[in-house]
Amino acid sequence: MFALTFLGTSASVPSAERNHPALLIEAAGQRMLVDCGEGTQRQLLRSGAGFRRLDRILLTHAHLDHVLGIPGLFSTLRLRQSAEVMMVHGGPATLETVIQMLAGLWGAGRAPLPVEFAPLAAGRFVDAGDFTIDCFPVRHRDTDSFGFVFQSPARRHLQPNLLAALDVPDGPLRGELAAGRAVVIDGDRTIDPEDVLGPPSGGRKLVVIGDTETTEGLAQHVVDADMLVIEATFLDRDASIARDYGHLTAAEAASFAAASNVKQLVLTHMSGRYEDEEILAEAARIFPNTRIAADFDHIVV
Ligand SMILES: [Zn+2]
Ligand SMILES: [Zn+2]
Repeated sequence: MFALTFLGTSASVPSAERNHPALLIEAAGQRMLVDCGEGTQRQLLRSGAGFRRLDRILLTHAHLDHVLGIPGLFSTLRLRQSAEVMMVHGGPATLETVIQMLAGLWGAGRAPLPVEFAPLAAGRFVDAGDFTIDCFPVRHRDTDSFGFVFQSPARRHLQPNLLAALDVPDGPLRGELAAGRAVVIDGDRTIDPEDVLGPPSGGRKLVVIGDTETTEGLAQHVVDADMLVIEATFLDRDASIARDYGHLTAAEAASFAAASNVKQLVLTHMSGRYEDEEILAEAARIFPNTRIAADFDHIVV
């Protein structure tokens, strides 16, 4: 299960309603940010999420609307005297921009709190047991951009009716069966895990893609996702501007979701030039289960 809190949903120019991009994701007791636009620390407070247990930032790319919130957030975390190491993941060029930004403020190699920079290369970079995170390269102008796949594995659970029918006692034997190991009861009855486990359930796949100029080549990473969060900066009538600035239209994002067998589409990185209704109408014509993210939206997948 993944809990998403949208902290900023604007494109490069914020509005009264939309802050610069940032998304808080909670999974298995861990909390991480995807991007950290200007003002993200205040959005964390306004959302009620706060700063606790926040020790990982995933960066899609280094455009300023996605990273300028980092210095302010780090300054505040220092005042809280957190000893946690902050892990920052991003493409090598993205991390270089952040390192330079911090160096400009605090001196080379220095930051207000312990920071570890982990350069991304395509593939799995977090395996937390209860969930994994993979990344894949994304084309967006001249940046070193990545998209992210969050997955929680499907699990097979013990079925109470089957346990009762086979007279499996409470206690450690059930733990063995849940872990997939056969047990012997009363010295003569062997119970196989297959006898008492239900079908796999509960696996989830969430894909988050930041700014991107095309969906070409991305379907393999997105296919069958329970939820896709992706930018839709422009509408189709401005498709040529979208091309020039390296962004998608709502129709392109929706077509991509439909072709990738995604269950739910959430659009973000909205340009202030459109009404939400227009964006939703364009996307929902192609992919009905579409939602336009607003700041402070909380969605569980
Ligand atoms: Zn952007
Ligand atoms: Zn960008």
